[in-house]
Amino acid sequence: MAEQLQNYINGQWCASAATDYLDVVNPATCEVLAKVPLSPAHEVDDAAQAAAAAFQTWRRVPAGDRIQYLFKLKSLLEENLDDLSRTITLECGKIYAEARAEMQRAIENVEVACGIPMLMQGDVSEDIARGIDEFMIRQPLGVCAAIAPFNFPGMIPFWFLPYAIACGNTYILKPSEKVPLTLQKVMRLIEQTGLPPGVVNLVNGAKEAVDAILDHPAIRGISFVGSSPVAKYVYSRAAANGKRVQCQGGAKNPIIVLPDADLDSTIRIAADSAFGCAGQRCLAASLMVTVGRAREPFTEAMAEAAKSRVVGFGLDQGVQMGPVINLQSRDRISDLIQQGIDEGATPLIDGRNPKISGYESGSFVRPTLLQDVRPDSRIAQTEIFGPVLGLLHVDTIEEAIALVNSGHWGNMACLFTSSGAAARKFRHEAEAGNIGINIGVAAPMAFFPFSGWKESFFGDLHGQGKHAVEFFTQTKVVVERWFQDWTRQF
Ligand code: NAD
Repeated sequence: MAEQLQNYINGQWCASAATDYLDVVNPATCEVLAKVPLSPAHEVDDAAQAAAAAFQTWRRVPAGDRIQYLFKLKSLLEENLDDLSRTITLECGKIYAEARAEMQRAIENVEVACGIPMLMQGDVSEDIARGIDEFMIRQPLGVCAAIAPFNFPGMIPFWFLPYAIACGNTYILKPSEKVPLTLQKVMRLIEQTGLPPGVVNLVNGAKEAVDAILDHPAIRGISFVGSSPVAKYVYSRAAANGKRVQCQGGAKNPIIVLPDADLDSTIRIAADSAFGCAGQRCLAASLMVTVGRAREPFTEAMAEAAKSRVVGFGLDQGVQMGPVINLQSRDRISDLIQQGIDEGATPLIDGRNPKISGYESGSFVRPTLLQDVRPDSRIAQTEIFGPVLGLLHVDTIEEAIALVNSGHWGNMACLFTSSGAAARKFRHEAEAGNIGINIGVAAPMAFFPFSGWKESFFGDLHGQGKHAVEFFTQTKVVVERWFQDWTRQF
């Protein structure tokens, strides 16, 4: 009998009263790893009440003392890096090296949040009028919550959590119901730091738990990462309820290849972007646009890279790409490949229905290349979220930039070139929040905001770095006067 996962509320692990449980599966084998409760709304209420009570004392703990828990958490995450990375591979499918890199990014966010005593400092102006001073101070919001997607179970909650609690907020984490195991382990490490009960809570679940978060009067700030339709829904419902909200959505990321790009490094980097994490990254390249003479050499080389990628279980030696998250996703990706073909694209390499020896029941799709994708076709605009790269061709960099800007997504756009002038033009004109120049996955470091634009982001302040500090604090301005004749002689 697979273990039934618990919630963590007010410093206690507690069984959920849920009537529905979902299987958590290893996508490489479809073996059931655990059962996750679809927690009812009243368990979100329990967590929100615990977090609201804890906030009254936590916000008064000096920032320098609050971050001591984060220093401990950083050490614990490092000591448990191997176990956490294996758990990510088991439940999410990505290969072990990718899972380790993911946790490294999580740790970097903890490190940046350790600078909160300085990052959340305010401003002071003395004598804004004679004898009057004015201050801007930053105070925490209260109870905040994160709703996470499946593809980075260890990293994405850390775009928010360390900043939130370091700024003096209390927190509720709602992991993706597809990959709840990593956060179970992270929560046990958070517990070991000795954080006071109620400061961080974990509620498993899906739509009912999310809706309860969106509607709960005690929850002041919500961070969401997931697909764009759900991001839009979360954004509008939470905002209508008067909450501060930031929602990172889906993507369709183009990479542009100019004829002067270095062939070998471009293909190595671009293939890793398209097929790394089985294409299930919001910063995965999903369209490659060759310009002018780049078409033939880069198409041929990409076909070789796609064919030679070793696909299998992410904990096996030598494997370069794991499965997609589940069988439904495999079938959805296969249907989208067919849709692309029906719309006129040519399957240069068709990765559907692969036979992976020893893992015949797994949810695998091999790298797929669709050639001659039309910019106006549905497949050129639809997020596939699998290892499928569409190939397009234009004659000039101007056309390439126009193509990038014609899409409704805006998460990332990359250019491969050896021309500084072309790079500058692209960086200046491309309409996307994350730009890569000879970089295939332009993921911002923890001290930069994770910037998405257009349909890839709903809100104002992004995750990570200074944006996170602003998101998790509210400014208070104080104008202050003391009359001189009030000075007493003691
Ligand atoms: P998803 O939208 O299906 O789920 C995300 C979260 O929303 C989960 O916690 C889920 O329980 C909840 N949810 C799902 N449907 C809901 C509904 N109808 N009502 C309320 N809550 C609901 O996303 P996913 O499949 O887990 O993740 C993949 C998506 O996330 C992709 O679109 C990817 O591009 C995106 N993503 C974006 C970023 C970014 O930074 N922009 C990063 C990672 C992933």
